[in-house]
Amino acid sequence: MKEAGLPIDHTYPLVLAGPSGSGKTTAVRELLHRRSDLRFSVSATTRASRPGERDGVDYVFLERADFERMRDRGELLEWAEVHGELYGTPSENLEGARAQGTHLVLDIDVQGARSVRNAVPDAVTIFLLPPRGAWLSRLRARGSETPSTLLLRLRTAAEELGAAREFDYVLVNEDLGETVDRVEAILNAEESRVGRVGNELNRFVSVLEMEIAVAQAEAVEPEEADNEGTGDTQ
Ligand code: 5GP
Repeated sequence: MKEAGLPIDHTYPLVLAGPSGSGKTTAVRELLHRRSDLRFSVSATTRASRPGERDGVDYVFLERADFERMRDRGELLEWAEVHGELYGTPSENLEGARAQGTHLVLDIDVQGARSVRNAVPDAVTIFLLPPRGAWLSRLRARGSETPSTLLLRLRTAAEELGAAREFDYVLVNEDLGETVDRVEAILNAEESRVGRVGNELNRFVSVLEMEIAVAQAEAVEPEEADNEGTGDTQ
């Protein structure tokens, strides 16, 4: 199949944010499963690992002092304190993705999304809204929550909802498959954004301009040749 698009100049970070229970972690996992042009950004965090989480795969679990050292050395693209714990994106995640020619997918909070937008203005940011009603029971059903951490998550969720308007795109995560379809549609549209294909667009347009110049010359020449042939000088 021929590609309709032009190759993009460079890859970009794709940020997914949204309140707890919006299902963004599952959506990110499904998205990564579907596409090979994406790489997951493994964050560093000071929070304890949950059952089933793997160090270096889900998160890099660090002592607070180690996290702070990384941050103070400027090794984090962004960082934020969420629920009393530190979370951050190692800058090398973005460098690695760029070197591989893949987009870096970040599952981060709204503070982090703001920082990424400031640091990398061509980042694509998507806010996932939880479906109305059901998400609260989803949140409560999480085994890891105690009443006080649940309250904290609810307060953070309310704050995060207020930031939805800052994002490029907003999706309601009613159905995982449809949500991921939409994210893919966004990625596909971004591939054709004029600002992302500038280099190739210049080259392509130059070639077309040359073709036009040749066609113009060919369109004019036969007429001139005819005039010469008849000796008509009027
Ligand atoms: P959890 O502890 O439930 O895995 O994550 C709590 C929140 O921290 C989620 O909103 C998650 O997206 C966010 N988070 C995870 N990694 C990062 C990161 O590297 N930076 C920022 N700013 N937030 C993160």
